[in-house]
Amino acid sequence: MPVSEPSPQVIIVGAGPAGCALAGLLAQRGIHCLVFDDDKRPDLLVGESLIPGVVPVFRQLGIEERVAQISTRKPGASFFVTDGGPRLHFSFKNVEGHLPTYAYNTPRPQLDNLLRARAEELGARFVHARAELEPGVRDGQPTLHLSPKSRAQAGLADDAGSLLVDCTGRARVFARLMNLPAERGERDDVAYFAHYENFDHDEVEPGQVIISVLRAGWSWRIPLPGRLSVGIVVSKEHAKTLGTTAEERLENAIRQEPLLAEKAARARRITPVMTYSNYQLLSERGHGPGWVLCGDAFGFVDPMLSPGLFMSLVGAQQLDSCLFADGADILKQPGMLAHELDKYSARITDWHRAWQELVRYFYDGRIFRIHLAGKHLAMKPSPFNLASRMERHSTRHIASMASGGWTRSRYSRALMRLLSRYLVWDVPPAENFAVRLNRPPEPLSEAA
Ligand SMILES: Cc1cc2nc3c(=O)[nH]c(=O)nc-3n(C[C@H](O)[C@H](O)[C@H](O)COP(=O)(O)OP(=O)(O)OC[C@H]3O[C@@H](n4cnc5c(N)ncnc54)[C@H](O)[C@@H]3O)c2cc1C
Repeated sequence: MPVSEPSPQVIIVGAGPAGCALAGLLAQRGIHCLVFDDDKRPDLLVGESLIPGVVPVFRQLGIEERVAQISTRKPGASFFVTDGGPRLHFSFKNVEGHLPTYAYNTPRPQLDNLLRARAEELGARFVHARAELEPGVRDGQPTLHLSPKSRAQAGLADDAGSLLVDCTGRARVFARLMNLPAERGERDDVAYFAHYENFDHDEVEPGQVIISVLRAGWSWRIPLPGRLSVGIVVSKEHAKTLGTTAEERLENAIRQEPLLAEKAARARRITPVMTYSNYQLLSERGHGPGWVLCGDAFGFVDPMLSPGLFMSLVGAQQLDSCLFADGADILKQPGMLAHELDKYSARITDWHRAWQELVRYFYDGRIFRIHLAGKHLAMKPSPFNLASRMERHSTRHIASMASGGWTRSRYSRALMRLLSRYLVWDVPPAENFAVRLNRPPEPLSEAA
């Protein structure tokens, strides 16, 4: 392409959900943006289970109907504990009034394609190339620019004055080039997953996602159109005991876990097995002169509770609204731009912290304790049905936090802390329901 294109106001690197959603939102405002898309769309990608908080973004982009056509409607999620432990069913009906009462389970590559097609329809320009960037320094702070090769591929004489957005996911291209420090999460797990046919689903509502606390680690089962996505998350140490290849590890885990083995009796794997590790990460810095991070490139919480796509899509929405609510003139006002970018980074960091806090309740078993205590309480006679009202109130808050509604609410978070500390009498300790890193030894047989 000849070097003739005008400089775009925003240059987005990476065309996953964060990059495409941001491009679509900016294009809706008439802001010129250009997206580098390396066209890497593997047939199988994690990020299939969505939460109600993403539906408003689909609506804002005008694509909810198209998402519904490729997806399974998700009414909620159930949480099972192995070996006869408690079963907890969350319905998104609990969030009625402030969020949609459903979400979707969606095949990821198709969702990415849909988001990209929509951004193009709205006027975003895509360059089908892997972006190359060069680090530099501006005002004593790290920054970067497109390489001459990438500028030529995009037909740009210059990228000065454009805001560069890193949406490269866990490749974290900007952070790596500028050596930005990141905070690692407390878990060091590895996940294996694949799609299956004829993998029986438990007796729950159609579309319900099932998360199981296994004898070692945990698993997800996500109903997709015509197939079930099955994943296991275990410690790296335990993974080694399951076999040498990813296929062996996933299939042995399924065979060894009572909650999965029976359901898998007729199952046939129809995709290769994918592996993901080292994913808990939060960048200590979200922006600098001329650049900003969005989606997984900023940070990723954990697969538990599926906050990933939410953080990518809502992150894009936040970036769009913090910076561009009054148009693109902000790009010519460095002081104002830095101020709004500070606001955006602080908000995203706060979102991460809130999700981390919530996810911990599911890993350490406190959520099951709260649930059991709530059930006991609701059955106790009390004046004005106060006990069962209290139980419904707590369930609504927990469901909304896990749906992306009240996740950051100070009241909801304080309520969770209060419930887990003080309102859990007559229930087993949380450790009984916690996700265990390794398989505990088999109980000794009577003969032994
Ligand atoms: C085990 C596991 C399970 C998960 N399950 C769920 C779930 O059920 N639900 C959920 O919501 N989330 C889930 N997630 C998280 C979810 O997958 C991510 O949060 C989401 O994909 C992040 O989107 P993104 O757009 O930020 O990045 P990505 O989806 O990674 O997209 C980044 C894009 O940038 C491209 N790119 C990289 N470098 C360049 C370059 N130099 N030039 C051009 N393009 C480039 C890549 O090819 C890619 O297309 C899971 C994550 C893990 C690890």
